[in-house]
Amino acid sequence: MLIIHVSQIPPEGLPVSALLVPAEVHLEGEDHFTLVPGGRLEALVERGDEDSVHVRGRLGARLALQCGRCLEPYELPVDQELDLFYLPHRPGGGADEEEEEVELSDRDMVVAFYRGGQLDLGQMVREQFFLALPMKRLCREDCAGLCPTCGINRNQGRCDCPEEPVDPRLAPLAKLLDRGRS
Ligand SMILES: [Zn+2]
Ligand SMILES: [Zn+2]
Repeated sequence: MLIIHVSQIPPEGLPVSALLVPAEVHLEGEDHFTLVPGGRLEALVERGDEDSVHVRGRLGARLALQCGRCLEPYELPVDQELDLFYLPHRPGGGADEEEEEVELSDRDMVVAFYRGGQLDLGQMVREQFFLALPMKRLCREDCAGLCPTCGINRNQGRCDCPEEPVDPRLAPLAKLLDRGRS
């Protein structure tokens, strides 16, 4: 179980060792990626002053993604050191409090909020996965992608299709893009 009842955290802290399953980390119905079985969360959850909660540990998992260029499935390893602070969400303490991440300048620590006396570590794991996702999902940096003419995966084979004809009006742009690529 990844839902922590803050009032039940013992003084010495609550060790968490969990095998991650999609339902508990709220990934059911997520269509951008899936969780490869075998991911783990190892953490120590401690309760501090004023019901603050400190989560330290490690998240180790693999996400199955689809390459945006060649459309092949590939896996992204996530190996994340965790050091997170949570504060109880106080009703009336600012409407968007939850959305705003408060940074404590002295420790430069990002703080989030929990509600109703419960901290859902599954939600935390889900957020870590989204943070780990790269902007460009590529099976490898130099993925050659698919031939736009015949659809062959250029990482796996060659084809004799002619180079795509470039619209002369777009030629300067194509040149720019080429430069950006090299
Ligand atoms: Zn690829
Ligand atoms: Zn081709």
